[in-house]
Amino acid sequence: MVDCIFCRIVRREAPARIIYQDEEVTAFHDAHPQAPVHVLIVPNRHIVGIAQTRPEDAPLLGKMLVVARQLAEDLKVTDGYRLVVNSGPLSGQSVFHLHLHLLGGRPLRWPPG
Ligand code: AMP
Repeated sequence: MVDCIFCRIVRREAPARIIYQDEEVTAFHDAHPQAPVHVLIVPNRHIVGIAQTRPEDAPLLGKMLVVARQLAEDLKVTDGYRLVVNSGPLSGQSVFHLHLHLLGGRPLRWPPG
């Protein structure tokens, strides 16, 4: 069993505001939100990051996007939101369990920092 904060959230051993969970993915509010809506969608299975995914993970990755799209509707940010995956130290990835950020509820500048 991997000792990882997001694994512990998935197993409901660490506190988090979970807003969606099924047999494959879990979504919860980010502890340090960078926008009025800032949700993380993670696979329940421990995967270090997008760089460690395999072709067989395509359905799981698609599921994460579908859940993000549904949450954007539920959280009423369909007028503008952003989905982000940081990969590797230069990107600022700080938690090494794959996660998709859903950010919305304010104007989002481009390019990101
Ligand atoms: P990243 O920099 O892409 O690795 O994003 C990691 C995100 O996880 C950051 O936005 C953190 O605020 C968030 N985070 C870290 N620990 C927790 C936690 N225990 N519960 C919720 N969000 C967390």
